[in-house]
Amino acid sequence: MHAHPDDESINNGATMAKYAAEGARVTLVTCTLGEEGEVIPPHLGHLAPDRDDALGPHRVGELAEAMKELGVTDHRFLGGPGRYRDSGMMGVEQNERPGAFWSADLDEAAAHLVAVIREVRPQVLVTYDPGGGYGHPDHIQAHRVAMRAADLTPDPEFRPDLGRPWEIAKVYWNRMPRGVIVEGFARLRRDLAEPGRLPFTQVAAVTDVPGVVDDYIVTTEIDGTDFAAAKAAAMRAHATQIAVAEPYFALSNQLAQPLLATEYYELVRGRREEGSRESDLFEGIPGLSDGATGLSDGATGLSDGATGLSEGTTSASDGTPGTSFEVAQNGTGL
Ligand SMILES: [Zn+2]
Repeated sequence: MHAHPDDESINNGATMAKYAAEGARVTLVTCTLGEEGEVIPPHLGHLAPDRDDALGPHRVGELAEAMKELGVTDHRFLGGPGRYRDSGMMGVEQNERPGAFWSADLDEAAAHLVAVIREVRPQVLVTYDPGGGYGHPDHIQAHRVAMRAADLTPDPEFRPDLGRPWEIAKVYWNRMPRGVIVEGFARLRRDLAEPGRLPFTQVAAVTDVPGVVDDYIVTTEIDGTDFAAAKAAAMRAHATQIAVAEPYFALSNQLAQPLLATEYYELVRGRREEGSRESDLFEGIPGLSDGATGLSDGATGLSDGATGLSEGTTSASDGTPGTSFEVAQNGTGL
């Protein structure tokens, strides 16, 4: 569940590419078209909201390209493309404009996501923390909508016309451990000191990075090293929004920051083992990775969806009948 096109690649690109490559079903739900974004390439400056106001449709194309790079085939806009408009940064008049995501009715917006969740039946939902990671109104609203939808989908009384009730096993918020990002900025400063090495001149602050928390808050770490190139390519596809020079990138403010292939999460609903960090968003979900789901004999009731596995695709991690099976919703806005 994500607010704008590009947030998914920046926050979860490696995670999405990894699970898609493993055969999990990954669904991205993006809440707005990002119409209020600033445009980096000068030759596309006319798309800006104060000129042609044509950035939204252009970013739909960028998002489609990014999803190709990540191998994600199921990407949707909340309520359909253009249902909710980018609200701009906090405090601007666009926040209150009719159709702005920030002014959307919470339960109405959540119902759109409930419909997707009841259709896809994911085990995992990924969204932002209550502050939206860095305070952007659309990110805060994406958090509220995702959490509200997670509450509503299991309720048989809520909109039975939107599908059968479904309970998401685990909900995560995007996170960035302070130790990791501080170290990343130190590396960036060293590289910037070498003349001509990077196309950037200025460095962002740790406070510019969404979701930064003390390291102990982080429960889960997804090593996306094998998908670093895919993540960078996906970010590069959002050319109006991101300038990439691996392993760094800058947004329209031209302030460089680290591009990390390892992505971090805080588990906020669902169970996990105490102690060390998880290395898999699906860890501990009954019937998924214990090798006992027996997909081949249907004994777990795959055909009727009783275990919630009927919508997904299988991932034979070891080639034996004990198959792991994963369904993800990333949008992260999953
Ligand atoms: Zn955003």
